[in-house]
Amino acid sequence: MPAEVPEPPADTPFASKVTKDSVTLVWAGTTYDGGAAVTGYHVEMAPAGTTSWKTVTKDVFSTNYTIKNLKENDKLIFRVSCLNSVGSSKPSDVSEPIAVVESAGGEDELEEPDEMAFQPRQIEFKTTNVKQFYEIKDELGRGKFGTVNKCLEKSSKRVFAAKFIKAEQPADKKEVEHEIDIMKKLQHPKLLQLYDCFGAGNNMVIILELVSGGELFERVIDEEFDLTEKDCVMFMTQICEGMQFMHDKKIIHLDMKPENILCVRKNSNKIKIIDFGLAQEFKDGLKVSCGTPEFLAPEVVTFDPVNVNTDMWSVGVIAYVLLSGLSPFMGDSEGETMTNILKVEWDWDDECFDDISDASKNFIESLLKKEKEDRNSASQCLQHDWLIKAGAASSKAISKAKLKKYVIRRKWQKGINAVRAMIRVKSIV
Ligand code: AMP
Repeated sequence: MPAEVPEPPADTPFASKVTKDSVTLVWAGTTYDGGAAVTGYHVEMAPAGTTSWKTVTKDVFSTNYTIKNLKENDKLIFRVSCLNSVGSSKPSDVSEPIAVVESAGGEDELEEPDEMAFQPRQIEFKTTNVKQFYEIKDELGRGKFGTVNKCLEKSSKRVFAAKFIKAEQPADKKEVEHEIDIMKKLQHPKLLQLYDCFGAGNNMVIILELVSGGELFERVIDEEFDLTEKDCVMFMTQICEGMQFMHDKKIIHLDMKPENILCVRKNSNKIKIIDFGLAQEFKDGLKVSCGTPEFLAPEVVTFDPVNVNTDMWSVGVIAYVLLSGLSPFMGDSEGETMTNILKVEWDWDDECFDDISDASKNFIESLLKKEKEDRNSASQCLQHDWLIKAGAASSKAISKAKLKKYVIRRKWQKGINAVRAMIRVKSIV
């Protein structure tokens, strides 16, 4: 089927922050990319009450943009279109009029702190109504089991994400309960925190730490972010800290990939590892067949026993991609990718590696080893020269051209997988 223009952003754009001369606009992605990956967004503004649209930018890839040098007290409206290789979508619905004035104090109650202070806690299912303790606010997104809304804890005035889950089938319920059980054991600042649980039967509400910075890779490809090896060290250190905690608890994530590493806030370099849906407690002889092809360790491809170092292979792949924008084992088909993984066939041949340090290469080499026993553990990674000597890492900007293409391809892949899942569901019904 030939590709067409995408659908417009799924929701009306809104201002997440306003100062006396700038507006930070946030919008939702497309509901359908038209069969060709979305390559960016076109943001327009007009004086409120007019249709005198003026282009603000056509060159933004993330779903937020700060419009600067505005005139204080102006009232503006905004709309956003999605772009792909075929052309532009229709514009989104027009935003509410936004006055260019310093945000008033009244908004403070929903201000998101940089990161929630981390406190270990006991989490018990409550059978009371969630609204007794939390005010439910705007929708943040939708997932497999229902919607996720921003919410405010009445007692502390802190902002969280409330995930409303309707698990109709016993298997779905088991899946959700498994994830909750795992999350209860994973109380660490680098892992997405479960804060509270409500409900009974098939309807549950889980309160999660709010993460609003989007995927790490999307943040680093933003025009305003200069990616350096020093940054990569900072991100990989945090990832290894999260891994070390999980692995000390003998829990294997089993789906480590860039999409599961989020930034806490839009302008923060703090990350959180998310999605513990495939995580498993280690048992001798545990075998799994799940995950995402590009990041699978050889023992998963061959359905041999896994251990915590299975995650460390994927961490090696993530580091390679972050530094280069290239996927080390990616073939033209899933089969070819699997073959490359089994042969551990990868290299530093591309010219983009010319400027990459030997320490970073050694870090990755110590992870992409066929035998899991030979790979560095998370603790060993944290002792590796590349991470320990963070101060010595280069501050020279790394080219992001390939990484940008990589992120677009992954998004596209995600879309295909979603369509495949829909087709599977249709064939079951
Ligand atoms: P999920 O059901 O976990 O796939 O979540 C569906 C969508 O809700 C995600 O794509 C996010 O947009 C949003 N979301 C989920 N959890 C959070 C969170 N902790 N903080 C902010 N947004 C979230």
